[in-house]
Amino acid sequence: MRILSSIACCLIAACASPPSVEEAAEVIFENGNFITLDPETPRAEALAVRGERLLAVGSREEIARYRGEDTEVIDLEGATVVPGLIDAHEHFPDIGKRVQQVFLDETRSAAEALEIVKRELEKIPPGEWLVGQGWHTVTWNGSDYPGEEELSRISPDNPVYLVGMASHAAWVNAKALELAGITRDTPDPPGGKILKRADTGEPTGILLEEALDLVSRHLPPVTRESRKEDIRRSIETALRFGLTGMHDAGSDAETVGIFKELLAEDAFPFRLYVMLDVPDAGAVLDSYLKHPPEIGLGDHRLTIRCFKAYADGALGARGAALLEPYSDDSEATGLIQNSEDELTRLIQKAGSKGYQVAIHAIGDRGNRNTLNAVERAQKELPGKDLRVRIEHAQILSPSDIPRFASLSVIASMQPIHATMDMGFAETRVGPERIKGGYVWQSLLSSGARVAAGSDTPSFPVAYNNPLWGIHAAVTRQDALGKPEGGWYGDQKVNRMDALKMYTLHPAYAAFEEEIKGSISVGKLADLTVLSKDILTIPEVEIRDTEVVMTVLGGKVVYRRPEG
Ligand SMILES: [Zn+2]
Repeated sequence: MRILSSIACCLIAACASPPSVEEAAEVIFENGNFITLDPETPRAEALAVRGERLLAVGSREEIARYRGEDTEVIDLEGATVVPGLIDAHEHFPDIGKRVQQVFLDETRSAAEALEIVKRELEKIPPGEWLVGQGWHTVTWNGSDYPGEEELSRISPDNPVYLVGMASHAAWVNAKALELAGITRDTPDPPGGKILKRADTGEPTGILLEEALDLVSRHLPPVTRESRKEDIRRSIETALRFGLTGMHDAGSDAETVGIFKELLAEDAFPFRLYVMLDVPDAGAVLDSYLKHPPEIGLGDHRLTIRCFKAYADGALGARGAALLEPYSDDSEATGLIQNSEDELTRLIQKAGSKGYQVAIHAIGDRGNRNTLNAVERAQKELPGKDLRVRIEHAQILSPSDIPRFASLSVIASMQPIHATMDMGFAETRVGPERIKGGYVWQSLLSSGARVAAGSDTPSFPVAYNNPLWGIHAAVTRQDALGKPEGGWYGDQKVNRMDALKMYTLHPAYAAFEEEIKGSISVGKLADLTVLSKDILTIPEVEIRDTEVVMTVLGGKVVYRRPEG
């Protein structure tokens, strides 16, 4: 009966008012379960698209009137549709990198890692580099750092460079140290550390933070063509995960040149918000500031209006700057990469030219320095909408939590980091400070915007799945549902909030709330079509929900393979 009456309605509507040419949609998506995140029309069954924008959103009957002779109609067969998901922090060009490295993520000990490295060495000629990533002493039962001698024993001739501790440390052999010219006399570079033996003063084979560069700059050069291929693959990968956009957490001018080239070749079906890497508030920044921000290039495919800088390092490698010493190392308080003064200058300089600044801050001291810097910069630039972002905002002093909202600072966080770090984070900071760790619920409740991302460039690409992130935000549990009730379960968020963390909040974090983040008339028709309704299924099924279709500006740019 309902079906009959709705058909009748359609017919009447179609007869009574055939669409005028201006009104006809290019594409209609119908028979969907649309979760719009638009308070005016929270739920819808269909929508009409014209010229990449949403022309109308509503019931099937309401949308039928936009159907013209040439309108393409896509039947969603009841699938759930959410606004195009946006990853607010990932190293975009890296996710498409060809697998040419050894992955050590699954290893349970240094011995296991050495076994894998040994096998790989058999495949390459003497003298060639072996590069690997993904090891972590936490998954090695909290063992001490390994040393160069084990690696040198199995690889006397091939330099070996193994990035670990979530990219904050590298384990190298003697050959790599030799090629990089690192000896007992080499001083630590700013923001980095060369670990040295207490007895002999010789390097142990472990490099931290900025010291990784000492070796990585000797790796074989990557060609521009291979970079471009990688970036093409990055786009494909992101679309496969249902992402319509991403915030690229630090690229250089040359990489941006490749993005533009792909855009000019009409080979960039994605929306990328670029943070340009600036080591400090000095020369590199000045050279970028000669040009104004570039906003919405290629029909909103590419925007370059943000700088990325670092306040400190990471927790795993004890590089995160803490107000008090580490709970598991009373000598260590972390590493400051940019001081409060430097950050203030950076925000002022960038802000006065219309650029946003995104600052990596993990420890409570790194975060406090950054918040102080924002407060000072705002006094110099009254009335300016700076929207400074803190990338990670991992460990916060309780008194700093409300400052995100009061200073309009965006917390750009990675739910999956919490579930990856929960095995060691508390060991690092102790039972009191951990209460301010990964606190997306406290931040949201205080009125701050929390934009979610993945930031797993050294992990297998599956970690980029935003549904894993939504699952982690909602449950604070790993893939096996551990721990019961979630890790510090009071910081869980409801599913609607988790969805906003991947849509509306990243849109706002990129000054794009007028065109992205919800399924609203006038906004870009970016959609993620899912195999299940993630608002109603059991929590455990969120991770395995599949992406049926990814839609960019009304065009289907990814479709799940048949079967
Ligand atoms: Zn990152």
